[in-house]
Parts: sequence; structure tokens; C-alpha cells
Amino acid sequence: MEIYGMTKSEAEVVVVGGGAAGIAAARRLQAAGVDALLVEARPRLGGRAWTVVSAAGVPLDLGCGWFHSADRNPWVAIAEAQGCAIDRTPPPWTRPWVQAGALAFEGAAFSEALQGFRRRADSFAEDEADRPVAAFLEPGNRWNGLIDAVSTYYSGAELDLVSARDLARYDDDGVNWRVAEGYGRVIAAYGADLAVEFDCKVERIDRRGKRLRVETTRGAIVANAVIVTLPSNLIAEQQDLFLPALPGKTAAAAGLPLGLADKLFLSLANAEEFDRESRAFGAANSAATAAYQFRPFGRPMIEAYFGGALAAELEAGGIAAFFDFAVTELVRLFGAGFARRVAPLQLHGWASDPLSRGSYSYALPGKADCRSALAAPVDDRLFFAGEACSTNDYSTAHGAFLTGVAAADQAIAALRRAGAHASAEGEAS
Ligand SMILES: Cc1cc2nc3c(=O)[nH]c(=O)nc-3n(C[C@H](O)[C@H](O)[C@H](O)COP(=O)(O)OP(=O)(O)OC[C@H]3O[C@@H](n4cnc5c(N)ncnc54)[C@H](O)[C@@H]3O)c2cc1C
Repeated sequence: MEIYGMTKSEAEVVVVGGGAAGIAAARRLQAAGVDALLVEARPRLGGRAWTVVSAAGVPLDLGCGWFHSADRNPWVAIAEAQGCAIDRTPPPWTRPWVQAGALAFEGAAFSEALQGFRRRADSFAEDEADRPVAAFLEPGNRWNGLIDAVSTYYSGAELDLVSARDLARYDDDGVNWRVAEGYGRVIAAYGADLAVEFDCKVERIDRRGKRLRVETTRGAIVANAVIVTLPSNLIAEQQDLFLPALPGKTAAAAGLPLGLADKLFLSLANAEEFDRESRAFGAANSAATAAYQFRPFGRPMIEAYFGGALAAELEAGGIAAFFDFAVTELVRLFGAGFARRVAPLQLHGWASDPLSRGSYSYALPGKADCRSALAAPVDDRLFFAGEACSTNDYSTAHGAFLTGVAAADQAIAALRRAGAHASAEGEAS
């Protein structure tokens, strides 16, 4: 691969990472008339927001797909302004179960057990000692395995790994919408007019000088302020990202690992055999099972969702391993003939992706306050954003957006303070 030099070696603000947070930050800086440069290691914008188009021309979200907390989610208005029609169909996890007859799944009993668990976990009070959210399971409850599977879908990790305090802080208005064009497409399109350096990996941020020096695989950029929006796993892994090092940031990021969730899209030969937006679990008594959503947007497809340790194990075998696992579960539910009616379409393994190393952050027990520690500015010129920095909307694309805007506002205020200081000094001399 030929490496080209930088198009710019200087900017007022460099934004590191062009996902939802970085795009939101750069847009805010652009609107304030600040000379900002977005530096992105991939050849595309969006990061963990990524819509690909299938061979049949159908947009598939390999990353975020749902506008969570849609009543207050800023991406909804952005999607509408782009001309997208918002699909307000209630999500499959609020719909009845597919399993019936001989395969009867006691959906009502499970829902009751899950709601009970959630009520106990939500009752966690701020002054209590933190503990793994698994502490709120009822010992011996027959649904504990499946409640754990559900945790791997929304936290990307099993309940014994997840902080009860952090989970109780998550804010969800219960409204979930989508766009047929793809959430990833909406987010990337929002960054279309920004100044971006693509295929440009930031290796180090040297903060020894009067100005910050952002060292990349394609040369250095000098800036007055930098907004770092890298996924928490990458900040934790790369201890020499800052010079001098910022061990407090490394430790905060390590308290917020990225959980894992992977989507496998399957084509469905006989779509009519399922209701639109219906769903099933692959097994009723295991944490290692996938959740299947049939005919999303009415399409002849299944979206299979894998989380936690199961997804990590399957990533080693690529799409074939995910497909084998899914077919085994689906055949158990719908009979041997079902194997002939599905085929694999798309998968992205987010843990194997070197520019994310996971899907969305959760906090380890005792580490919920790492979110505010990760978000805190350094020296009034190094700012932090990204979903992991959000105390109440973490793990989401709207949480990433809000942290990006907040970091941009902090940077703008800091630049103004520095400008006022410089002009006061000039007048005095
Ligand atoms: C399977 C899956 C399903 C999801 N479902 C939903 C959902 O339904 N709803 C929802 O709201 N959220 C969902 N999410 C989470 C959501 O996608 C993320 O929380 C959000 O996109 C994170 O945005 P970010 O800007 O914080 O991070 P990222 O999108 O990860 O952005 C960081 C950027 O930094 C870049 N980068 C990495 N290293 C470097 C480097 N050294 N130099 C320069 N650039 C670098 C990356 O390429 C990336 O573009 C899902 C995620 C996944 C994976």
C-alpha cells in the first residue's frame, strides 16, 4: 500500500476518530468556525456505526441499528433532515415469541423473571457498595441462563462481569426506532462535509510542547487542542498513546472494557413462514444462545444477535462458525428442513476488528466512575469523548454524539480562554 503524506500538518483542533462522537464533535467545531481536522484510521467514517449494502441492494447495519431513547435521541432529527423515514415499529424485544407447539417457550414466565431481575437491579441505590449485577439473580431460578444471555446482548458481557452501579445509571426512555437506510449511513453522512484525513492512524499524542503534536502513520499534525474519541479498549491497550503517559486515563479506560455483540444476517428462502419483526431465542436455558429477529423491516432475512463469550468463541471460526451455530439452533426450533431455507449473508466480528476490539462498553464492578474519569479534560487542551465517556447513555450512538458535542464545547471554551489570555498578555506588554 502506498502511504501518502498528510494534506494538513496543522489545525486548531484535531479530533481523533471519526465515529459518532468524533463526527458530532467535528460538526460542532465547524459550526463554531473552528479550524478542525478529523483523523480516522479507517477508509470510512462511522466506526462502530456501519451500514453495508448486501448483494441484493439491502442496507444492513453491522453496528448500531436502533435509535435507543428515540424521544430524545439527536440522531432522529438528523436522519429526518437527511430525508430518511423513521420506522417506529416497536422492537422485537417488546413482541411475542415465535416458539410454539412442541417447542413451546414459556415466554410469559420468562418475561416475568426478566422483569423481576431488572426491577431488583434498578433498585440499586447510589450509596450502596457496587457489586456484579449477577448478585440480583434469584438463586436457582430456571431462567437465570437466559437472563444472562440477554445481558450479553445489551451489555456485551455476562452478568458477573458487569457493575450494578453502572447498569442502574443507564438511562433508557423505552422508545426505539430505526431507519431502513441504516443508522450507520445516517451517522457517516452527517460527517460528509468535514475535513477528514482517512487511512490515518494516530500513534501518539505528544503533549510536551507548547502545542500538541499528533503523530500519525502519515506524519505529524500540530494543534492547540485534541479531542480523543477512541474506543476504551484501544486507550487501555495503548499505554504509550500519550507522551508523557496518562496512567489515570489508561486505568479509567481499562475499567470500561468493550463487551462483544456480533450480528449475523441470514437470507430466508420462505419469508412467509414468519411474522414481520418476530423473534426467538435459540435455547431457553443457556447463556450461550443467539437471539433471532425474523423479517426485520419485512425483509426476507433473519438478524441473529450473538453476545459475550459465545460471540468471542465463534469469532475464531469466522462467518462459517456463526452460521453453523445458528443453523443448529434454528433446526432444533423449526425442524431439519430449515437448514435448506437459510444462507449466510453478512457478519462483522467486532472483537477481531483492530480499530474497535469490541462492540460497546460496560463497567467492571467498582468501576462505574471510570466514565467521568475518562471524560475529564487534561490541561485544558486534551478532551475526551466516545460512548464510554457517557455516564447515562453509554454504549450507544446517541451517547457518543452527546459526549462529542460536550467535548467540542469544552475545547471551544478553552480556546477562547487561551485567546483572551494571549490578547491580555499582548496588551500588557
Ligand atoms: C453489533 C453492534 C450493535 C450495536 N447496536 C446499537 C444500537 O442498536 N443502538 C445504539 O445506539 N448503539 C449500538 N451500538 C453501539 C454504537 O455503535 C457505538 O456505541 C457507537 O457507534 C460508538 O461511537 P464512538 O464514536 O464512541 O466510537 P467508534 O464508532 O468506535 O469511533 C472511534 C473511531 O476511531 C477510529 N480509530 C481507532 N483507532 C484509531 C487510531 N489509532 N487513529 C485514528 N482513528 C482511530 C475507529 O476506526 C473509529 O472510527 C452497537 C454496536 C455494535 C458493534
